[in-house]
Amino acid sequence: MASTACYKPAAYVLQFRAGRTKVDRKVAAENASEVTASADSAPSHFIRNIVAEDLQQGRNLGRVHTRFPPEPNGYLHIGHAKSICLNFGLAAEFGGLCNLRFDDTNPSKEDVEYVHSIREDVRWLGFDWGDREYYASDYFERLYGFAVQIIKAGKAYVCDLSADQMREYRGTLTEPGRNSPFRDRSIDENLNLFESMKAGKFPDGARTLRAKIDMASSNLNMRDPVMYRILHATHHRTGDRWCIYPTYDFAHGQSDSIEGITHSICTLEFEDHRPLYDWFLDQLGVHHPQQIEFARLNLTYTVLSKRKLIQLVQHQYVSGWDDPRMPTLAGFRRRGYTSEAIRTFCDRIGVAKRNSTVDIAMLEHCLREDLNKRAARAMAVLRPIKVVIQNYPEDQVEELEAVNNPEDHSMGTRTVPFSRVLYIEEEDFREDPPKGFFRLSPGREVRLRYAYIIKCVGVIKDPQTGAIMELQCTYDPETKSGSSQSSRKVKATIHWVSAAHSVEAEVRLYHHMFSKEDPDEVPEGRDWLSNINPTSLEVLKTCRIEPLLASAKAGDHYQFERLGYFCVDPVDSRTERPVFNRTATLRDTWANIQKAGKKG
Ligand code: ATP
Ligand code: MG
Repeated sequence: MASTACYKPAAYVLQFRAGRTKVDRKVAAENASEVTASADSAPSHFIRNIVAEDLQQGRNLGRVHTRFPPEPNGYLHIGHAKSICLNFGLAAEFGGLCNLRFDDTNPSKEDVEYVHSIREDVRWLGFDWGDREYYASDYFERLYGFAVQIIKAGKAYVCDLSADQMREYRGTLTEPGRNSPFRDRSIDENLNLFESMKAGKFPDGARTLRAKIDMASSNLNMRDPVMYRILHATHHRTGDRWCIYPTYDFAHGQSDSIEGITHSICTLEFEDHRPLYDWFLDQLGVHHPQQIEFARLNLTYTVLSKRKLIQLVQHQYVSGWDDPRMPTLAGFRRRGYTSEAIRTFCDRIGVAKRNSTVDIAMLEHCLREDLNKRAARAMAVLRPIKVVIQNYPEDQVEELEAVNNPEDHSMGTRTVPFSRVLYIEEEDFREDPPKGFFRLSPGREVRLRYAYIIKCVGVIKDPQTGAIMELQCTYDPETKSGSSQSSRKVKATIHWVSAAHSVEAEVRLYHHMFSKEDPDEVPEGRDWLSNINPTSLEVLKTCRIEPLLASAKAGDHYQFERLGYFCVDPVDSRTERPVFNRTATLRDTWANIQKAGKKG
């Protein structure tokens, strides 16, 4: 609908767009290593310096008051986390306050489902807004009053141009715009018409209220921007009380002012809106917060635009907003990310004035650092192949001691049952081992973690298909882990589970959602959707997990030995059929990038 298209500044066609810069791995690695070097004291940045300076100069009567202002038109993503950490973080650091304000000025796109999810996600990240939960819609009456004040000052007028005509009159970056033929309406006529707009006398898009600024301004945002438009839509909070709604530009600064915000922090695309932000507040003569812009977060292999994320959900490329492949906080949470890891990441990427793209490997690095400390180890076999230990007594079961977390001995030990029939990982056996393959193969030995050394003495195959059905092995009873004879060396140790004691489970492996580092990089005639990775989800249905894992709860984190970090899927897992999500693999590409950066 043309009349709603301009609600948010992002929709202005001619708006300044800071370019997305290519990932510079080496620079990124250097920056990150600098930052990690001073890990305990959060790195400083230009916004913190501004706030500190303001406090030192006694500005704002020594107050620091920020806000996080989401529009409830989608779930929060990791870019929002950066903004949340910044706004709540500064308030906490300087003894100030941070409000949660729903910027709900466009009823055609907004929904209470999003309000609920946003609350939950901000809380999950670890931030508390106390009783300061506000809504731009709570200010509709006051905003209307502000608009009347500006009309009375002769600085706003009701315009009858259609959206298309307005665009035509606006001019371009190189050509000035032309005055609207309705620009010189009298104050009284404007007041009457504006009241009639409010009273519902005109259809959608028939008229707008515009600020009377300068149609020749070099800044397109100052060419008589729209303050109000007509939209007969039911609002999730105000119902049908209003049929005119303020634009982002007219609502945002005034909402900041009403709440006594001192530092209004937003992303770079609003830089060219700042003169307008200032203009409205100057006209009204009210408390005037300072708008400060910073570079939004971009991540490789990821899209962070609600418009695009909505498309992924609506067209069912994913199972929902909380699909573990989504870069939403709900998706990360379901996948097993911790809020601590996300906050650490947000601290480390810093706050800059220039747009850039962060390597997703850095986020995974922060995650592994956190999970390595807290995740209990366990054994699971994703692609099982049966092993029968021929010289092990048929009815014998041994409970072997296993360490829960070598990084944290306070997490103790557990026992894992060992018996004659086991499962090992398909890829830990090769009938024809290539050079350098030291795991199990015919005639070769391998150590079973926490157990014994076994040797492969035979392979049973399906006579029809030739597929391997069973490995016949023997074990060396002298080599039990922890025993006096256990020091005999073999080249590899592999994980396993006891067939009779293990439980079947489904495991979901996730890969990047997009196959290109920059999902927007497409050949002519294609769009970003063509870069969706068709194999981003791999479902394994016949995995075997050690018995204790069957009682794992949502929210528990595990490291499956040699495989990665996993968690119980909080939505689909059942006691009788556990479902695990792979949170991350063990390989840390970011650590390697950092190392390479230091050497180079
Ligand atoms: P999107 O572009 O994904 O639709 P948005 O800016 O329209 O996001 P809002 O709900 O308006 O979404 O965002 C709330 C706050 O979060 C704003 O202050 C916005 O600047 C900030 N924000 C949004 N995306 C990012 C990002 N990628 N990095 C940092 N901050 C962001
Ligand atoms: Mg926005």
